[in-house]
Order: sequence, then structure tokens, then C-alpha cells
Amino acid sequence: MKQRLAILGSTGSIGRQTLDIVRENPELFGVSVLTAGSNWQLLAQQAVEFDADSVVIADKSLYQALCQALALHPIKVYAGAEAIAQVVSGSQVDTVVNALVGYSGLRPTVAAIEAGKKVALANKETLVVGGAYVMPLAMDKQVPIIPIDSEHSAIFQCLSGEASAPKRLILTCSGGALRDLPREALASVTPEQALRHPQWSMGAKITIDSATLVNKGFEVIEARWLFGFPPEKIDVVIHPQSIIHSMVEFADGAIKAQMGTPDMHLPISYALTYPYRLPRPAERFSFADNPTLTFGRVDREKYPALDIAYDCLRRGGTAACTMNGANEVAVASFLGRRCGFNDIAGAITYALSKASFTAAPSLDDYAAADAEARVLAREYIESKHA
Ligand code: NDP
Ligand code: MG
Repeated sequence: MKQRLAILGSTGSIGRQTLDIVRENPELFGVSVLTAGSNWQLLAQQAVEFDADSVVIADKSLYQALCQALALHPIKVYAGAEAIAQVVSGSQVDTVVNALVGYSGLRPTVAAIEAGKKVALANKETLVVGGAYVMPLAMDKQVPIIPIDSEHSAIFQCLSGEASAPKRLILTCSGGALRDLPREALASVTPEQALRHPQWSMGAKITIDSATLVNKGFEVIEARWLFGFPPEKIDVVIHPQSIIHSMVEFADGAIKAQMGTPDMHLPISYALTYPYRLPRPAERFSFADNPTLTFGRVDREKYPALDIAYDCLRRGGTAACTMNGANEVAVASFLGRRCGFNDIAGAITYALSKASFTAAPSLDDYAAADAEARVLAREYIESKHA
């Protein structure tokens, strides 16, 4: 029987690569639901190609345009964020691939878990914001959450088949687009420079998060929730070539690494077919052609976001939700040239210093913390650039 997918964020980088896997394996996968934020043209095209049952466009003002584009097809059309959370629970969905970006991913993940659907999770913000809420819920509902993020997929693959608990998780970090720039040069970095990631071609938000290392900080938080590891047992090491996707160290000193050319199709496909692996026509890594793999320490002064994320993890409650909300606003402002690169970390620090704190948040508390963080981040950016 085919595995029927709801792909949330199908028009994005991860969403499109998930559809590549479906295209390569039509006998294994069917598409039930596709969703987009505003790109209704591509969404309509995908829905027709993959014969989807339903589509959702988050931006309600584009509902009519999408309906018209699909008028000749028996595809149900919905609009709005609430509809995204609703469609995942339909009986025709086996697996929810959450490839949404940002806070918008949290509620659909919760809805998928509540409906008992397997979750293939790219949207790391789900766990950054609400890991303390989401993981116990998944445990309670016995729903597997399989990571798509390459580092977490690597750790997941390294842990597979191990009976002993590991001692340490080691997340690798390319260093992002600005790793070769001196600290003093960051203040005048442009969006174009920060968007030029050396290894991965990804959506704009995560590419900027990679340049600030907010992304790596988020991945530490994500690892904490996925694997139940305290922050002091999660390390980050710079590895510019992005060939080792992450590592796990065991009590006997053994270190397992998962390696391969940087290509998100692999972790996406593994998340869909675990514990099996699909053959893929991908480029193979050649040790002989790439004899040098290097490693280094993170410059914690150049990249304050990493320590801020560890700190949020130790504080718990709504701290990481505040960090995420402030970051989303600051990244959008940076991309819109309304603030400088260093203002991203500045806005996060400011929001965390002013925000209220809830120790054991409900979903509504996360929403309130997110909204407050956005207001604070805007306040900071306006004050700097008034
Ligand atoms: P993209 O920006 O490329 O795609 C985001 C998708 O979400 C698009 O389909 C977009 O629609 C949709 N979307 C955007 N905003 C909203 C909203 N408010 N409500 C509903 N839908 C929305 O992101 P990526 O694919 O790069 O990243 C997706 C997630 O995966 C992120 O959490 C990221 O951190 C994570 N990830 C990504 C990796 C990558 O290689 N790209 C690697 C590891 C993790 P539209 O096209 O209409 O704007
Ligand atoms: Mg990653």
C-alpha cells in the first residue's frame, strides 16, 4: 500500500525535494495534501501533477486565484492557517511532512500528533518553540517524530541499532556564509552576502539563520528534545565541508558519524522510509577526490546566538519561543534591509531581557510569548534605526 503524504510547505526548498522523492517512487508514495504560504501558482501545478486530494493556501486573499487555477480538477481547496492544522488529521493521510518555516509549523505538528499521524519533521521551530509540549504529547500518542534536519537525521541514523545510551552528541556546523569573514566585518554584511551559503541551497530564513548560527543554536535545542539529551552533552564543531552530518559518542569512546555529499533528499527519503533505505541516483562521495575533512571550534564572540540558545535551553519555559519570535522578525527586517546583520542577535538579546516568562507553557502561552517577542524585536529595530 502507498504511504499517503501531507506535505506542508510543498512549494519550499524541503517541500519541493520531498516531491522529488515522490516523483522517483510513485509506487511507494501518494500525495493527499499540499500546502503553501502564498505561491498559489506552484501549489496548483504540484496538486495537478501529483493528483492531490486537497490543497491549502495560508494567505486567504489568494483563495479565489487558487480555486480558479484548479477549477477543472476534483481537488478540494482551503485557505488559512487553521485549515493547514485541520487537513493533516484527515483519514487519507498517513504521514505529515512538516516543511513549513518558522512558528507557523507548531500547530500543524501538534494537530498531526493528536490525529496519530507519523511526523517527518523539517520544521525545527516546532521543537525550538514547544519541544517541552510536543515531545510528551508524541510519547503519549505513540506517534513517531522522525527528523529531516540533516544533523538530526545523522544522529538518528547513528543511534539506530544501539542498545546503550550515547555519552555525547556532536552536531557539525558548516559555519554558514560568513565563516571566513572577520568579526568586525559582520556589521556591514548585506543580505546577498549572508544568503550565499557555501554548501546548502535552502530557503532564505534558514540560510540567514545559518550565517548567524541561530540555526545551530536551534539545532542544539532540537537535539535536546528529539533525543532527550541535556545541553551539556550536546556539542557543536565546525566542519566546513559538510560531509560528516553529525556524530554520536558512546561510553567506550567509539564515535559514529553519518557521512555523504550534502543533499537533503537523503534525510527526507530516510524519514519517509525508515528503517528502510531507498536507492537514489545521487552523487556519491569520493574520499580520494576529497582527502581533507577539517574541524574547528566555534568563535563564540563572533556568533553570540549559539550561547544564547544554550541559555534558553537551560532556562526552559518560553525562553526559546521568545528567541525564535524575535529572530523571525529580525531576519525578515535584515532581508528587507531595515536592520543590520548584528541587529539580529541584538534583537534576540533585547527581547529575552524584556519578555515575560512562563515556566510550563500551554499552546496559548507559546502564542502569547511569540507575539510579545515580535513586538519587542520590532521595538529594538525601530529604536536602532529611527
Ligand atoms: P522555504 O522558505 O523554502 O519554504 C517554506 C514553505 O512554507 C513554503 O512552502 C512556504 O510557502 C510555506 N510558508 C511560509 N510561510 C508560511 C506561513 N506563514 N504559513 C504557511 N506556510 C508558509 O523553507 P525551507 O524549505 O528552507 O525550510 C522549511 C523548514 O525546514 C524550516 O523550518 C527549516 O529550518 C527546515 N530545514 C530546511 C532545510 C533546507 O535545506 N531547506 C534543511 C534543514 C531544515 P510559499 O512558497 O508560498 O512562500
Ligand atoms: Mg541542519
